[in-house]
Amino acid sequence: MGNPSPNEVRARLLGWYDANRRDLPWRRTRDPYRILVAEYLLQRTRIASGTPYYERFLERFPTVRDLAAAPLDDVLAVWEGLGFYGRARNLHAAAQSIVQRHGGEVPRSYDELASLPGIGPYTAGAVASIAFGISVPAVDGNVTRVIARLFRIRENVTAGSVRRRIAEIAARLVSPERPGAFNQALMELGATVCTPIAPACGGCPVERVCLARAAGEEGELPISSRPRPPRAVTVVFGLVAANGRVLLVRRPKGQLLAGLWALPGGERNGPSESTDLKGSIRSQAGIEVRVGPRWSRVDRTFSHRKWSGSIYRCSPVRRPKETDSVRWVLREEALSLPLVPFHRDAIKALAGLESFASL
Ligand code: SF4
Repeated sequence: MGNPSPNEVRARLLGWYDANRRDLPWRRTRDPYRILVAEYLLQRTRIASGTPYYERFLERFPTVRDLAAAPLDDVLAVWEGLGFYGRARNLHAAAQSIVQRHGGEVPRSYDELASLPGIGPYTAGAVASIAFGISVPAVDGNVTRVIARLFRIRENVTAGSVRRRIAEIAARLVSPERPGAFNQALMELGATVCTPIAPACGGCPVERVCLARAAGEEGELPISSRPRPPRAVTVVFGLVAANGRVLLVRRPKGQLLAGLWALPGGERNGPSESTDLKGSIRSQAGIEVRVGPRWSRVDRTFSHRKWSGSIYRCSPVRRPKETDSVRWVLREEALSLPLVPFHRDAIKALAGLESFASL
C-alpha cells in the first residue's frame, strides 16, 4: 500500500468535516480578530473549558482596539483560572502591535502574522488559512498524530527532523481551495476520531488509505518521548493582613503565573518555612512580618511543576509601602484584581474573621 494521495485525503476529510463538524462559536465567524483570539485562547486548553472564556473575553474586548487599549490587569482578570498566562500577555501585546503597526487590521499574510508576539507556525497557519483562505498548513498535536498514523511514521515525532517532515506532508495535503476547512478537519479528526488512545478507526473517513491502520499499528503510533512529570517543589506563602487590608505582590516576569497579583512568598530554598517566608516577604515587599498559624495548604499541579506547601497568616509590623509591584489594599479591592486563583480562595476566607484586626 503506497502513501495516501493528497486528493483522496482532501476529498474524504472535507466530506466528513462538512457532515460532522462541531458547531463552535469561533466557527461562526470570519472576523480575523475573533479567530485570532480563539487560537491564542484554546492552545493547550480543552474546548469545553475554553469556550466560556472565549465568550467572556469577546464580550469584554469586542474589537482589537478595545483589547489594545485595555490595561494588562483587565486582560489577566478575564483570563484568570484558564492558566498559561503567557498567552494572555502575548495576545494583549499582539493586539497592541496590530493597532500600532497594522492600522488596527489583523495582518493578512502568514509572515506578518508569524511576526506577532507569541504566534508560532501553528497559530499563524491557523489564522492565515481560516480567516484569509491562505493555503498553508496548521500543525498542532492533533494534526501531528493523524499524519504520523496516516503515513505510518515510525520515528519520534518530537525530533526536529520528523517535525519538519510532518510539516512538509501537511503542506502538501492542505486543500488549495478550502485550506481553513481542511486544517480544521484534520484537527477535528484528531480531537474526535483519531484520538491518542483507542482511535475509532471504524468510523474514520480516511481508514481506507491509512497506513498505520493497514499495518495494525494505530495503537502504537505516534512515537514520542514521554513528557517529563512535573517537578515537585515546596512552597510557602504569607497571607499578610491587618486593618481590613491585604498585602499583594505582582508575580515577576519569567516565573510561573507571571503578571498575576499574588500573596508574597514562593518556592522554598531555606532552612525553615518561617525563615523562608519572612525572607521572601522582606525581599518582595520590603517589610517585616510576624508569622502566625497555618491558614491553608497548597497542592497545585502545573505543566512543569507541582507545588505543595502552606499559606501562613501573617501580621505586618508596619504599614507596607505601595509600589508598581506591591499593593496594600482593602480585601474587596484585592478580590477585584487578577489574582492567583488559590490565593483568591485564601483571601476570600478572611471574610468576617475577627482576627482580621488592626496593626
Ligand atoms: Fe487515525 Fe484510525 Fe483514521 Fe488511521 S484509520 S487516521 S489511525 S482513526
